[in-house]
Amino acid sequence: MAPPWHCSAYSATVPAMMGHSHALSGVVGWMAVVPLVQGTQFLGLDFNLGPSEIIAGSLVCAGAALLPDVDHKSATVTKTYGKVTEMLSDMLSFLFGGHRMGTHSFFFAVLMGVLVQLLALWSELAVQIFVFLLIGIALQGLGFGLDKNRTASGIINALATAAITLALYSAGTNYTWLGLAVAFGVVLHFFGDMVTKMGVPIFWPFWKKRIGQNKGFKTDGPVEQKVVTPLLTVGIIVGSIYLFDWPALLPDGR
Ligand SMILES: [Zn+2]
Repeated sequence: MAPPWHCSAYSATVPAMMGHSHALSGVVGWMAVVPLVQGTQFLGLDFNLGPSEIIAGSLVCAGAALLPDVDHKSATVTKTYGKVTEMLSDMLSFLFGGHRMGTHSFFFAVLMGVLVQLLALWSELAVQIFVFLLIGIALQGLGFGLDKNRTASGIINALATAAITLALYSAGTNYTWLGLAVAFGVVLHFFGDMVTKMGVPIFWPFWKKRIGQNKGFKTDGPVEQKVVTPLLTVGIIVGSIYLFDWPALLPDGR
């Protein structure tokens, strides 16, 4: 049986990118835009991203980059919170026209971004809960959920997620950019699916053509395993070296 994060589990004939590649692309994507938006104003938001905003944004983006596959039963995001996400998956799959339809459109990206931004305006606590849920999805996607023992992996995942969310909270992380990061992560998912031969109906519901179908490389094939995943990983290392002021992050006297 295909592992739960295996995006292509939904169809043997139409391959899609693996969950961990999507999650990695979210991390790299956020790290790549930080230098571009740093110190600027966009949509009325001030971008002053410190280390905690960079880490939080990377994980939020990674989680969001898995969200579109909520329209499928076997996707990482659907399996992350058991019955809760499974029910959500059934509902969203129905509302958005089934697999790889509405949840793979700019409409969905904008909708998610706006909803999350409204959530952020409404309640500080709701933001923390949403960030916690997304980080959980991200860690699951990045492969922190051990597959063999579901209960143990669920507990480890929840503890790690809680620890990270709390650490980001006590660091005073500013989440004004949350909606944008979510929309951006969702859009990154589309690119991931497009480069793996799977078309994405990005203009749904207006135009249901799957853009990018049958172009690109095979899912979990040699290109994804030997080129894409290592490149994304190197991207994260380079990004971390470049973005963080490491000497300043270390405690004094070391
Ligand atoms: Zn997908």
